[in-house]
Amino acid sequence: MGNGLAERLEKIEKRLHRAAERSGRRRSDITLLAVTKGFPAEQICRAYGLGIRDFGENYVQEFEGKQAAVAGLAGARFHFIGHLQSNKAARAAALFDVIQTIDSPKLARRLNAVGKLLEVMIEVKLSAEAAKSGVDPEALEELAAQVRQCPQLRLTGLMTMPPWNPDPEASRPYFRRLRQLAERIGVTGLSMGMSHDFEVAVEEGASCVRIGTALFGERPQGKRGEAAEG
Ligand SMILES: *Cc1c(COP(=O)(O)O)cnc(C)c1O
Repeated sequence: MGNGLAERLEKIEKRLHRAAERSGRRRSDITLLAVTKGFPAEQICRAYGLGIRDFGENYVQEFEGKQAAVAGLAGARFHFIGHLQSNKAARAAALFDVIQTIDSPKLARRLNAVGKLLEVMIEVKLSAEAAKSGVDPEALEELAAQVRQCPQLRLTGLMTMPPWNPDPEASRPYFRRLRQLAERIGVTGLSMGMSHDFEVAVEEGASCVRIGTALFGERPQGKRGEAAEG
């Protein structure tokens, strides 16, 4: 891995700044979440060394293998962004600071029962693709109400992943929709935008962009953008 991480980060930062500027926003209002699934713990440490503090992982078991190596990174925050089965809720709660992918009342209850204060987001499914996880928009208000009844969970926003399309403009309607839904339930956090469409996401109000390949290059294990089973 000849790296080039610093150069790639610099390019992403420039693009983030520009996207924020043209939409009248501040770069500091947007969290750059470095998605490290498929990469070893050393990559997390390198990114940390360059100033990144937020990291996204998709698989409970994979991150269990890295956790010891990154436990000493003061101020680092680890976000779970994969699909979380409720039988893994306790393990995920122990490992992560933020769970971005709550999609059922059962999962919320299980996470709450762990007894650790957690920041959470609700994943919303905005396309009909059967494989995608997330709650249907029609069920969002009810789920948000249930999450808010959980004393250990602090609901800060919504997360989504539009159907894959290389054209970033294809994601815009989904991002816009997520923002409208967030306004409806009264949250401000919007986790949306990946390597190929993060600038559009920033224009549409993203508070967190989740970037993997643009930062680290192709994932060694060939894991695509799927929010696969945790
Ligand atoms: C893998 C993944 C990302 C990052 O995707 P890139 O295209 O590599 O930037 C973002 N969000 C989720 C949910 C992912 O699973």
